[in-house]
Amino acid sequence: FDTAVERGVAIPLANLDYTFLEHYNLDPIFTAETGDFLAQVDPASYAPIPYREGAARMFAFMRADDGSEWEGCPRTQLQRMVDLYAREGLSVQVGYEAEFMLLVKEGRGEYRPVDEDRHYSATGFDRYYAFWRALTDSLQAMGLVVVQYGRDDGHGQYEMTTRHAAPLKAADDYLTLKEVVRALSRERGWVATFMPKPYADMLGNGLHTHLSLWDANGKSDLSMGERDDEPLSRVGRHFVGGLLAHAAGLAGVGAPIVNSYKRLLPGSWAPAHVCWGVRNRAALVRVPSMGRRRRIEFRSGDNAANPYLLLTSIMGAGLDGIRNQTELPDPVEDDVGFLSDKEAAARGLVLLPRTLPSALDALETDQVIAEALGPIIFHRFLNVKRAELHDYNLHVHPWERETYLEDV
Ligand code: GLU
Ligand code: MG
Repeated sequence: FDTAVERGVAIPLANLDYTFLEHYNLDPIFTAETGDFLAQVDPASYAPIPYREGAARMFAFMRADDGSEWEGCPRTQLQRMVDLYAREGLSVQVGYEAEFMLLVKEGRGEYRPVDEDRHYSATGFDRYYAFWRALTDSLQAMGLVVVQYGRDDGHGQYEMTTRHAAPLKAADDYLTLKEVVRALSRERGWVATFMPKPYADMLGNGLHTHLSLWDANGKSDLSMGERDDEPLSRVGRHFVGGLLAHAAGLAGVGAPIVNSYKRLLPGSWAPAHVCWGVRNRAALVRVPSMGRRRRIEFRSGDNAANPYLLLTSIMGAGLDGIRNQTELPDPVEDDVGFLSDKEAAARGLVLLPRTLPSALDALETDQVIAEALGPIIFHRFLNVKRAELHDYNLHVHPWERETYLEDV
């Protein structure tokens, strides 16, 4: 352990060119002969795992093999973005709201939600009290506060929100939450899925990013309007303006798998249009409430995203808005998901990318996100995602047999 902490752990660079399906993407630059990066642990992140005796976990920075800072590291790129904000006299607080479903596995590829409780029912908290208690106790022991957990819409669907923190800690906390939810579900014989849209007839699982801008010391909130009826300050409006201006590229980072686009449907409570609103769940960016807990919520991301890359990109887009003083359109007040395409177009509402290929194409042309992520991450990410798409496109899906096999 001491040696690992002191010298780091070598891990093949080729990991950055591997897809989910465990083979190289179509144009890898890191292969068998390109050596390793060093995982250099971040001592501040040390936490014993309460339910695994003798085990602890730490987060690491990825360093070049001589130990120097390396732009292929998501935590490093996020830290650089934090430093850019500091130069503007700003700091950012972030909390992640993760939605997930608890399922029982019934056979290969077959699952059933643990409950059939209705929409926002409280029954599951009582029935599974021991589970929730173990979960919140474990997370607290690992240095993380769950500010709220709740029931969501679908069967077996729940959500948990971490207390806001500085960006790096917020992203670390989110990953801890995800690991602990999965581990304790596994202990009970359940599968916790964070997949964006496991079932076509239920709402999907989002990963909403809650943000606020503060002065450099984190003392005064700078993003929110001063008057009671004013949702955002000037800097807050420019920040949100940046998020809207880069919405298509942000979808590529935050909603990064084919399944993500089955969640981002009009009329689904997940955003489908590029717009902002107050309280409005159909908006891409929302100021959830005008009360004391006023903040900015970015809603298109899902749990397939890498939280460091998503946050780096969101902050990069927001900073671009601040620097360019990007103006905001009026907030939307209705559920724009129920507008026809014609009506939406007449109101100047643009759709988010409808598919992963169009999101990746948009991302590829987004210079601001490219710069925020740095060339290594940016190009490896695009390549890996396109290789996954290539695989998906060659696959024959059950829907195709159901629809065409007998009748074509
Ligand atoms: N489950 C919805 C989504 O996919 C969001 C529901 C909510 O507003 O919490 O984003
Ligand atoms: Mg929710």
